[in-house]
Amino acid sequence: MTENQPPLARQLQAPPVSWTRDIDVVVLGSGAAGLSAALAVRPVRSVVVVTKDVLSAGSTAWAQGGLAGVLHPEDSLEDHIRDTIIAGAGLCDEQAVRELVEAAPTSIRYLMRLGAAFDPDDGGDVALTREGGHSHQRIVHSGGDRSGAEVQRTLDESAVGAGVEVMDHAFALDLLLGRGRDGQRQVAGVRIAQLDAQGTVISIGVITARAVVVACGGFGQIFASTSNPPAVTGDGVALALRAGLPLTDVEFVQFHPTVMFTGPEARGQQHLVSEAVRGEGAILFDAAGERVMAGIHPLEDLAPRDVVAAAITQRMAAGANGVFDHVYLDATHMGEHFYDRFPSITAACREIGVDPARDRIPVAPASHYACGGIRARLDGTTALRGLYAAGEVSRTGVHGANRLASNSLTESVVTGTRCGRDLAWELPERVEVLFDAAGVASAGLVDPAAIPQIRTAMSRHVGVLRDQRSLEQAAAVLSEVLHQSSREQVRADRESWEATNLLTVASAVVTAAAARTESRGCHRRTDFPDPAEAWVTHLDVRMDAQGHLRVTGA
Ligand SMILES: Cc1cc2nc3c(=O)[nH]c(=O)nc-3n(C[C@H](O)[C@H](O)[C@H](O)COP(=O)(O)OP(=O)(O)OC[C@H]3O[C@@H](n4cnc5c(N)ncnc54)[C@H](O)[C@@H]3O)c2cc1C
Repeated sequence: MTENQPPLARQLQAPPVSWTRDIDVVVLGSGAAGLSAALAVRPVRSVVVVTKDVLSAGSTAWAQGGLAGVLHPEDSLEDHIRDTIIAGAGLCDEQAVRELVEAAPTSIRYLMRLGAAFDPDDGGDVALTREGGHSHQRIVHSGGDRSGAEVQRTLDESAVGAGVEVMDHAFALDLLLGRGRDGQRQVAGVRIAQLDAQGTVISIGVITARAVVVACGGFGQIFASTSNPPAVTGDGVALALRAGLPLTDVEFVQFHPTVMFTGPEARGQQHLVSEAVRGEGAILFDAAGERVMAGIHPLEDLAPRDVVAAAITQRMAAGANGVFDHVYLDATHMGEHFYDRFPSITAACREIGVDPARDRIPVAPASHYACGGIRARLDGTTALRGLYAAGEVSRTGVHGANRLASNSLTESVVTGTRCGRDLAWELPERVEVLFDAAGVASAGLVDPAAIPQIRTAMSRHVGVLRDQRSLEQAAAVLSEVLHQSSREQVRADRESWEATNLLTVASAVVTAAAARTESRGCHRRTDFPDPAEAWVTHLDVRMDAQGHLRVTGA
């Protein structure tokens, strides 16, 4: 993204503020991370969960495979740590991985005590399955492939039952900042829009608080084809970027290798075919009937996601039997047992006339998980006092250049709970609002009509495989959208705020992807196909005072 283009928005324009309130802790987002934080802080602090839609609109409710944690006597913490670090391709923070893996079994038992019903095995213990990159059976699941829905249900009921206040259809716009007694910048609150069910503004308000926990999830919706639900538009990372925080590792977007292929025109959220299907022995074939993963990796079809997604993309480019846009997953060895083990995948297959007990399932890679985000520790603390980040919005160093399957729900619960407990214990001092984004001169909002342009450019040019030319093409499209929006006056509502955030986050991803001239984890550059020792480092993207992005750390 170049100097001679208009700046990105430094605030989300909105009508004037008409109400204010004050509280100890504001949690933004109601997925596994946000609700875990709110639940842990609730006994001793006033807390409100602000969420832009209904409680279950985020990715959590869609998770299929389950949660990873060492529960089997033959498994070990060291093996889980090793598997996570191998998947992370040289960029994991080993201490963060160790902390997560050690806390994972407790977090799963905690969910069970809250009432989560994980599937039992024949002996009545919790059933454990395996997914790509894991050396043991260590994934707990629920309802077969409805694991996330059970986690969401459990946390919804627990949080509401514990008296956590929820403000739904409330969109977090921007942070409000102040200064602590030592002169350091600190979060003082957040500007919120209350919306009707169509996303039209009812009112704008300010909530002042001693702590703001950002748990707004990832940004899969910057791509045309994604497993993420419509609410996952990168609002949390964009808000942090505008507040001056660095985003770290955002070039590492994980593409799920097997998202159901429903036709070349399919756009938006697509149905996932969980990795657990390959965990149960399913095999990938191209349209000519040749195996995709044979000879590519020792774990073959259970290789880490980045390896499988890249292999499928290369095989699709070769166009076996003239098919360039999908391959097939064969789970027919499971027969009708497939229906019980994977009920929601079965339902999705039936919608496109596929019987998974008899037919191969058409699949293709699609954007799935943001390994990067707001730089934070496993207790949620960030570089900005009073601001905490938990779940997929954060980058704790656990996932490195590529997340190991089923580590993210666990991370959301561990980080959210830890952050909430620490805030129950101690809060930052209260500070006055000094910098209100509403007072910042800023570019206007992006027209929602430009969203398909942004998404198509990202999927076409910044997908599983990228190179300098494709990244320049993406940057040119994003720049054109920015130019268009600088000439227009756009109405403030949920859609235009999301469009503005999508453009900001897409620009950050392209900036980081262009800077990293190597291939590592889920960042694959065809012009730099190998990992380079010099790149065992992290990139930070920041927004300067003018609204231009800067990348550092190279
Ligand atoms: C189809 C699918 C399958 C998956 N399967 C697995 C799996 O098996 N195992 C695993 O570990 N991980 C899985 N993942 C990833 C995992 O589900 C997510 O990483 C995790 O749920 C993220 O939780 P979260 O709380 O950080 O965010 P989310 O659950 O995405 O919640 C984000 C919340 O923030 C709210 N929000 C967003 N913007 C705003 C705003 N501006 N103002 C207010 N609220 C806002 C949203 O409405 C939502 O409530 C899967 C993801 C998908 C999409």
